[in-house]
Amino acid sequence: MASQPKPKTLVMKFGGSSVGTPKAMQEVIDIIQQSRADWPNMIIVVSALAGVTNLLLDGAAQAAKGSTEKLPEAVERLRQLHYAIADTLVAPDGRASVKHEVVELIAEFGNLCHAISILGEASPRALDAVASLGERMSVRLLAPALSGAGLPAAYVDATRCIVTDRRFQNAHPDFAATAEKSRATIWPILEAGKIPVVTGFIGATPDGITTTLGRDGSDFSAAIVGAVLPADDVWIWTDVNGVMTADPRVIQNACTIPELTYREMSELVYFGGKKPHPKAIRPVVEAGVGLRICNTFNPTHPGTRLINEKPNGKKNGDEILKAVTAIRGQRLVTVEGRGMLGVPGVAARTFGAVASTGTSVPLITQASSEQSICFSVPSSAADNVVAALQKAFATELVDHDIDRIWATDDVSLVTTVGEGLRETPGVAGRVCNALGQLQINIIAIAQGSSEVSISLVVSAADTDAAVKAIHSLIV
Ligand code: ADP
Ligand code: ASP
Ligand code: MG
Repeated sequence: MASQPKPKTLVMKFGGSSVGTPKAMQEVIDIIQQSRADWPNMIIVVSALAGVTNLLLDGAAQAAKGSTEKLPEAVERLRQLHYAIADTLVAPDGRASVKHEVVELIAEFGNLCHAISILGEASPRALDAVASLGERMSVRLLAPALSGAGLPAAYVDATRCIVTDRRFQNAHPDFAATAEKSRATIWPILEAGKIPVVTGFIGATPDGITTTLGRDGSDFSAAIVGAVLPADDVWIWTDVNGVMTADPRVIQNACTIPELTYREMSELVYFGGKKPHPKAIRPVVEAGVGLRICNTFNPTHPGTRLINEKPNGKKNGDEILKAVTAIRGQRLVTVEGRGMLGVPGVAARTFGAVASTGTSVPLITQASSEQSICFSVPSSAADNVVAALQKAFATELVDHDIDRIWATDDVSLVTTVGEGLRETPGVAGRVCNALGQLQINIIAIAQGSSEVSISLVVSAADTDAAVKAIHSLIV
């Protein structure tokens, strides 16, 4: 018998802000209800309730310092947040058992914190065990709430779907193993006519130890699940109308970007755009799955779609700029000296030393004279990085081949993104001009290897003004 075509499959991910309160979670239920007719197969990926992951990790951090005095307060807050949803959205006959499950998970939090306080330290593995509790609680609320609304659902701990390496707190999935486990876990639930409600953020090692995919990792979870099943579409529901021309918390007139290419979206989120998570883009693109970002609190708004092709037609510079973002809390580190000229391997040794501190480098600039190498690192890592470099180049410093290794005060990387930006004359000039008019000093410029962005380094104090000035070229 010829196999039946697979029913249309949609993964929808709801972030913490979409499930923070009973009212928000009711919106989620309404959205799922309304999408049901178009999508016979729906998989829901959900984050912890807003603020819960921070609450859990703060508790663990306090415990690591030996302090558990505030633990009862955190426990009570967790209980209140989750009970409020159970009391409002879970049908009375299922409420007691849901509350019982939540209370057990909160008790696990208390036990883990006590263990951490006795040890006096929280290992990455222990922190993942703690952080995972938020998502484990939220699915246990949403699934019965959906069932109660006439949408039969079953919760799934993603430890049964997403197989990762052992890099606790920043685990990476093994896609082949994940495909096998996800399909084995999720398809039977769909075939039984139910909606799987999967924990975002978490996975497990092959031997079953809980890991997390990094902060804000639930977008990545949705992309992974969507890619491996595979689904037709992944929709990431958040609290704004899709990907915006700038952070709407900084720029009041930021507006939705209806379409972004893969390169534009990747660059935008790499340089500080918050949605979607940088790791969420590649899996869906590689699997040929659609991606949309949309607003739980404005569900009829189309939001943002990821598109493949570069839009046709020549545009003027202003239309090319699509968005502006900022990464704050960086410092520029410079290795400089006339004796560096032509010395082989300085760059390799520089970045080797940086890597030895476990620091990532979002931006690099090098003067063409080869007399200096300059790059940015998170402010918190700068002192360590400078110390590692001074150690690595101790001989060159004594010999004055390298004169100075130093870090600036706090700076921000302000990046503007748009396909076609590099090949269109005058765009970079217009961007610099906009800052010049406001007397904003550009400390460094990098066009990076990408052809769709320009990054400017400005002092921390100038960040918002720089973002606003560039945004005025876009909107
Ligand atoms: P969620 O709870 O859905 O995971 P997050 O709080 O992690 O959502 O991220 C959504 C927030 O990201 C938005 O409320 C918005 O303020 C912020 N944000 C920053 N830059 C952008 C941008 N360019 N486009 C959309 N949102 C952005
Ligand atoms: N709850 C996790 C966090 O706050 C994951 C997520 O929300 O995406 O980081
Ligand atoms: Mg989030």
